[in-house]
Amino acid sequence: MILRFEPYQLQLKHPFRLATGTRTSTSTVQVQIEENGIIGYGEASMPPYLGESIESVTSFLLKLKSENWQIENLSAILQEIDSLSEKDNAAKAAIDIALHDLKGKILGVPTRELFGITATQTPPTAMTIGMGTEAELRQKVAEAENFQLLKIKLGGPDDKDKIDFLRSITDKPFLVDANQGWTDVEVALRMIDHLSSLNVLMVEQPMPVNTTTETWRLLKEKSALPIFADESVKRLADLENVSELFHGINIKLMKSTGLAEANAMFDYCHKTGLQTMIGCMTESSCAIMAAAQLASRANFVDLDGPFLISNNPFEEPQLIGGCIQLDSIAGNGVIPF
Ligand code: MG
Repeated sequence: MILRFEPYQLQLKHPFRLATGTRTSTSTVQVQIEENGIIGYGEASMPPYLGESIESVTSFLLKLKSENWQIENLSAILQEIDSLSEKDNAAKAAIDIALHDLKGKILGVPTRELFGITATQTPPTAMTIGMGTEAELRQKVAEAENFQLLKIKLGGPDDKDKIDFLRSITDKPFLVDANQGWTDVEVALRMIDHLSSLNVLMVEQPMPVNTTTETWRLLKEKSALPIFADESVKRLADLENVSELFHGINIKLMKSTGLAEANAMFDYCHKTGLQTMIGCMTESSCAIMAAAQLASRANFVDLDGPFLISNNPFEEPQLIGGCIQLDSIAGNGVIPF
C-alpha cells in the first residue's frame, strides 16, 4: 500500500472559546492510503491540549512501512502500529480510519458492516454552542436551526447566567460540557441541580481529570443528571478504572486510536451498562463520517466538527431531522470536495 499525508489547517467559523483558552483553527494531518488505485481517507486532528502536533504525527507516520501491509491483516497492522509508541493516539486513528475506509471500499461494503452493524439510523447529533456574549449566543443558536440538540460549553464564571439565557431563547434539549471547569464538588452539584430543571440530558466532564476517586463517587451518587467522562477516558484500558465513577463515556476516535478500539469500547460499555456518546474534536467530514459508522451504537451523538469549520476538504455530512445520514456507499462514506 502507498501511504501519503499532508498537514491541513481546519479554520473555525467562530473562534473556539473554552474554559482553557481561545483558538481560530485546528491542525490536522490528512492521510491517504492507496492500493490498486483505491484510496482510503484518514485524518488526525490535534487540538493543542492533547499533546500531539503536525510534527509528532508526521514523525510517527514516517516510521510506518505501508509497503508491507495487506488489508486482510487489518487487525495485525493496527496492533503493530499501536506497539510503536505509548501515545500518538490521533496519528494512529488517522491510519485506522484510512484503512477501514480502504477495506470497506475493497470489499464494497459500508465500514459499519465490517463491525457487524446493520442499523443505519443514528441519534440526533448535538451542535456545540461555545462561549460568547448574549448576542453571539443568540446568533449561534440561530445558526444551529438544523439541529435538534444543543451542546452547551460551561465551566466559566458566568455559567448560570449563560445557561439561563440560552434556556430563555430555545426549547431544544441541551447536553452540557463543563470541560473540567468545576473544581469544587459542592459547586458542581449545585450547578447540576440547577441544570436538571432546564431540560439538560447529561453533563460531560464536570470536574478535572485529577479529581479523586472519592470525589467522583460522591458526585455520581448525588448528581441529579447522568455524568459522562470525556478527558478522564481515552482508551479501552481506561474503562475498567472509571466504570463505577461515571454513568457514561464520551468515545472519540482521536482518543481511542480509531474505529477498531472505539467499537471495542462500545462493546465494553454495552456489557457493563455504561451509557455512551460518540464525540469528536475539530474534525472534517473525513473523521466524522468514520465515527458516524458507529453512531447507531451510542446513546448520544456529538459529531458537529464539519459544521464548525469553513474549509472542509470533504463534502459536508447530510442531516435529516438533525441526524447524520448513513447511506450504502462503500467505506466510511466520505467524498472529497
Ligand atoms: Mg468534552
